[in-house]
Amino acid sequence: MRGRLALWLRAQWEVGVFRTRADISTFVLNTVLVAITLATATYLMVAAILTNFSFFPYPFSEALGFNTSTTVMIAASVSALLAWLLGTAVHEMALSRAEFERLSRLDPLSGLFNRRAFAEKMVAANVNGFFVLFDVDRFKAVNDVYGHAAGDEVIVAIAEELQRVFAPTHLVGRFGGEEFAVFIHGEDRGDCSLLVEEARRSVAARRVETAHGMVAVTMSAGIADRPAGRPFDAVFEAADHALYLAKSLGRDRAIHEDEGEGLLEPSRRVAAGGRRR
Ligand code: GH3
Ligand code: MG
Ligand code: MG
Repeated sequence: MRGRLALWLRAQWEVGVFRTRADISTFVLNTVLVAITLATATYLMVAAILTNFSFFPYPFSEALGFNTSTTVMIAASVSALLAWLLGTAVHEMALSRAEFERLSRLDPLSGLFNRRAFAEKMVAANVNGFFVLFDVDRFKAVNDVYGHAAGDEVIVAIAEELQRVFAPTHLVGRFGGEEFAVFIHGEDRGDCSLLVEEARRSVAARRVETAHGMVAVTMSAGIADRPAGRPFDAVFEAADHALYLAKSLGRDRAIHEDEGEGLLEPSRRVAAGGRRR
């Protein structure tokens, strides 16, 4: 019985049956109706049996009057109270679960989607587009010179610029550290390049006022084609490799995966395909 109740509660919680206060009222009403029916039927059955064996202190007709209405009132108030307590508890659990799930998908510093949520959304949006990996140039120096708190402020400012340029049409995320990702919907590489350059320019033009002075940073970017169906890991690898090339070529630029290692001087080419880590 306890096991079944626990299973039932879990099902209500997961399905979100108690999403609103109106859902709770409906549950209370249904429970009260069931409780009244069961209590009245049980009472009448017991009264009939007791009358039959002459154990009942008064005639059956009297039992139908006052005692039945008392049974109904007690059953209604007790079941309403219990159902309301139960419904409210499940409703509140469902709300905290939804909030917990929302927070587990966001990067706490920037408020952008974290890597897991970003990847899930990009895979779910099975459309053609471009995956762009941005990495702040020489960010370690920002932390070293201005302090970690200033570095955090720069990350927040970059997130704002990326959202301004890309959201809500395109997907924006923070992949940890000073690395951001964008999934640009569309098939026109020229449009994609324009957007990426706009983002890079606005980040470079942004001045972040920190406790230890004004900070300005640049970003490098690696761009990979993402035709619908190309696996996320393959797209990520391609963009990461293009980003590696952008860094190797002097930073503060965007490179598309097609531009390849031909851009590098022979002495700096990496035989196995360069990766940043
Ligand atoms: P590159 O141009 O090659 O990308 O150089 P870089 O200095 O940006 O790269 P590197 O990977 O050496 O350094 C990244 C730094 O980012 C190191 C780490 O301390 C810092 N960092 C990572 N996450 C955070 C964060 O959440 N806040 C702050 N303030 N710093 C962070
Ligand atoms: Mg960096
Ligand atoms: Mg990095």
